[in-house]
Amino acid sequence: MEAFDPDRKEVIQRAKNAGLELMITVGSSLESSIKAIELSEQYDFIYASAGVHPHDAADFSDDIYIKLKELSKKRKVVAIGETGLDYYYDNSPREAQKEVFGKHLQLSKETGLPVIIHSREAEQDTMRILRESDIGNGVLHCFSGNMEMAEEVMSMGLYISIAGPVTFKKSKQLKEIARSIPDDYLLVETDSPYLSPEPFRGRRNEPSYIQNTIKHIAELRGISYEDLARITTLNAKRLFRIGSIAEKPEITYRIRDSLYLNITNRCTNKCSFCVKFHTDYVKGHRLRLDREPTEDEIKKEIGDPSRYNEIVFCGYGEPLQRLDFVRNVSAWIKEHGGRVRINTNGHANLIHKRDITPELKGIVDSISISLGAQDKDTYNRICRPAVENAYDGIIQFIRQSRKFIPDVRLTVVDLEGVDIEKCEKIAEELNVRLEVRKFNVVG
Ligand code: SF4
Repeated sequence: MEAFDPDRKEVIQRAKNAGLELMITVGSSLESSIKAIELSEQYDFIYASAGVHPHDAADFSDDIYIKLKELSKKRKVVAIGETGLDYYYDNSPREAQKEVFGKHLQLSKETGLPVIIHSREAEQDTMRILRESDIGNGVLHCFSGNMEMAEEVMSMGLYISIAGPVTFKKSKQLKEIARSIPDDYLLVETDSPYLSPEPFRGRRNEPSYIQNTIKHIAELRGISYEDLARITTLNAKRLFRIGSIAEKPEITYRIRDSLYLNITNRCTNKCSFCVKFHTDYVKGHRLRLDREPTEDEIKKEIGDPSRYNEIVFCGYGEPLQRLDFVRNVSAWIKEHGGRVRINTNGHANLIHKRDITPELKGIVDSISISLGAQDKDTYNRICRPAVENAYDGIIQFIRQSRKFIPDVRLTVVDLEGVDIEKCEKIAEELNVRLEVRKFNVVG
């Protein structure tokens, strides 16, 4: 765009210096799509999209469609758009906007490239057209809709991209959306040269300012800048099929100031809400193991345990399936000044056919036990345990854990059918704290 004519190179360098790994420069007309592609061909980390903005829908023609299709075959073109509807400016007649939007969706389907969708004050028509097109590959850019729209967008398999306005004081609805949508659907963007985040509001925006938007959203979500950067980078790579994605599973991974240990995929439950049944990633970390790590491998990756707030046995399975491993590594962590927590489904005594809780004495500081539900039937429906009498076994395991572990907490996920009040009562009777986790928020 012209706004960058005086200092484009410096702007790109500043983005690199800010830690941006990859960038997509977005076409909004035939001419700007060609320019975007030219720019992408000069830098290995820049990619382009090809499309015509709804503002220019009135000038769209079959000839432009054919040209966009040609451009979409270029190596650096990774998306179709920006396209969509803009009823705020109404620069083109609405009928033309709708028709051209439909054509871009058709092009996205023909090429297999994801579509970048603009929707401003046009929610109803945008959603109707998306529903009719059955498109499941793309992103709602600079999202400005409500939570209901966000939920429907995600149910279609589309991503939601948040830009600078989330940092504005009055953007309450957008902040709520940025706080609550699941990791797997979240992207961030600049929309440069528009929509600068605070404290640059009103000035020309540039890619390096994405740091401010990320920082703000990370605070809203209670995670670190690095966590959010990793999550959104992974999502962008997967959606636009750019860059490289780590193939190797991670046996340790960091979230905030804690280190999580991923030691097994095995589990005696098949919970309906379990993240591992729909993705290999948690907070941008690839967790599905191809083999279980050894004690030496884990210790080597932990390094100095005292560097972390807490070291948590968690991952993609039930850690106490590997009881000896947990005991040995926990003892080693404690010897080296670390703090240990175990996240467990509470089946350990049923798995090992004895009371294992005394074996955790002195080597485990904290244990989070998944209560799952307020009664047996609901638990069996949601968690589908492979062990007999799982629910009674969990209650017994909680009682025993209290004798040997200083901090015992219960967790439940706020799913349909889970009675939080009754779960709170159970926790109270057992004299432990209950933590309610939101569905689809992991880590
Ligand atoms: S207990 Fe945990 S790891 Fe096992 S299925 Fe349930 S959520 Fe997944």
